[in-house]
Amino acid sequence: MPAPVYDLAIIGGGVNGCGVARDASGRGLSVYLCEQNDLASGASSAATKLIHGGLRYLEYGEFRLVREALSERETLWRIAPHVVRPLRFVLPHHKGLRPAWLLRLGLFLYDHLGARELLPPTTTLQLTRDAAGAPLKRGVFTIGFEYSDCWVDDARLVVLNALDAHLGGARIETRTKALAAERAAGRWRLTVVNQRDGEARPILARALVNAAGPWAEDVLARLPPRRSRGRLRLVKGSHIVTRKLFDHERAYIFQNPDRRVLFAIPYDGDFTLIGATELDYAGDPSKAAASEAEVDYLCAVASEYFAQRVTRADVVWTFSGVRPLYDDGANAASAATRDYVLELDDDGPPLVSIFGGKITTYRRLAEHVLDKLDPAFPAIGLRRGWTGAAPLPGGAFAATELEARVQALRLRYPWLHDREARRLTQAYGFRANEILGEANERQALGRDFGAGLSESEVDYLMRVEWAECAEDVVWRRSKLGLRLSADEIAALDRFIASRLAEGGRRLSAQRTPA
Ligand SMILES: Cc1cc2nc3c(=O)[nH]c(=O)nc-3n(C[C@H](O)[C@H](O)[C@H](O)COP(=O)(O)OP(=O)(O)OC[C@H]3O[C@@H](n4cnc5c(N)ncnc54)[C@H](O)[C@@H]3O)c2cc1C
Repeated sequence: MPAPVYDLAIIGGGVNGCGVARDASGRGLSVYLCEQNDLASGASSAATKLIHGGLRYLEYGEFRLVREALSERETLWRIAPHVVRPLRFVLPHHKGLRPAWLLRLGLFLYDHLGARELLPPTTTLQLTRDAAGAPLKRGVFTIGFEYSDCWVDDARLVVLNALDAHLGGARIETRTKALAAERAAGRWRLTVVNQRDGEARPILARALVNAAGPWAEDVLARLPPRRSRGRLRLVKGSHIVTRKLFDHERAYIFQNPDRRVLFAIPYDGDFTLIGATELDYAGDPSKAAASEAEVDYLCAVASEYFAQRVTRADVVWTFSGVRPLYDDGANAASAATRDYVLELDDDGPPLVSIFGGKITTYRRLAEHVLDKLDPAFPAIGLRRGWTGAAPLPGGAFAATELEARVQALRLRYPWLHDREARRLTQAYGFRANEILGEANERQALGRDFGAGLSESEVDYLMRVEWAECAEDVVWRRSKLGLRLSADEIAALDRFIASRLAEGGRRLSAQRTPA
């Protein structure tokens, strides 16, 4: 049988690749996506996890990006109310840094530049009276501003896009690396290798998208000589996670004398996430790790604001990623544009390469990628915009109904603790029912791996969400790695390996390409 020809092949299973796969398959294209490692194993699980306009980008005149990003906040919240949620940010006025009038002006623009219906506007805070002032240094920070953005579980957003693409017929292959691609007989011929067994095979497609994020230039080097002008600037960013540093649900945005801003965000109930650094980076993006100097820097900036000094002893986890920024020639890494640039090479079957972009703008970026492919597939323009109205898997409930969903799950499964019901609802939305099934007691979910992770959930993650090892489960499909011991994680790894050896891998019903 001749090899199938897909309409679209995508290299890279980060938020941008999976976003393009979802949009394209929903518009009727047959789609193939390969990811060399796990979904969201690159920059898309290492973000600060904000769905934000980017208050700081206003200073660099990035009005197009800020407007688009601000409007995406509520769109993404509506289509994924389980993994996206609103968050209020407290910006303390620092007497030695930006004046209060400038902060007010920036926040006025922020409130009015992009569409905003549900998120409340900016308010002024008297930090001497407001609970948000309590954890801060006394007598130093007296006024502040509180504004709205959203928070997202970045890695889960990626998986939900991949799953929706799959449900729309796309073929998603993880642990599959694109080695090379060439144009032949009016098609792209992509050579992919299965990272598990080293087997290489060809994939044929009418169009190709390079969504390899920080690896985009590496992928371009594997393609025919190009006229590409795009260049990447790789900028490492590290975060620390500490035991919970404050007792309320709002986040902080702290200014630093180097003009950078840092966030301190309530994280997973018992923790605080602080980040991120910005350092130019060379080398393999998968090797990025937080250095001691970065950890010290993050502790020092947080200690400038919090009454309680933050030290290395408070840090329970660090993570690091590489931003694939478009190189606009800026001097400082923090000044490099956060906007994305798409490059079309239509010297034969089309190739679109993605440079830059943010989690926040992935959906709009995907639309723009498909706009570039419009001449090759004229009918796809007809469904433009559908991704902004259709919920992601599990998310078919109103943006403001998360709490009601948590309580509904508790009613249906009264033996679940509130914390478990919340975690499952925030991860899977309605799909939590697929994990819990008819279980009328905890034991019915099979083996307990600790921290509420059941055999039934692990099976679901392997069958439906491409999980293949403990790391996929505890650091990307969830953050249970913060609560499980090294021994428990090792036991989970052994369990998954034995399941895989039995052949218990995922479903695979995709649209057969023409
Ligand atoms: C520290 C930090 C903080 C950030 N904070 C935010 C934030 O708060 N809000 C926000 O909106 N954005 C934020 N971002 C930006 C955002 O995370 C990235 O812009 C976005 O994740 C990029 O997605 P991507 O799909 O282009 O790249 P990636 O997520 O890196 O995906 C590319 C994928 O391609 C795969 N790949 C590479 N080569 C091949 C190959 N040859 N074959 C097959 N697969 C391949 C990689 O394994 C990788 O999984 C942050 C980024 C960082 C690093």
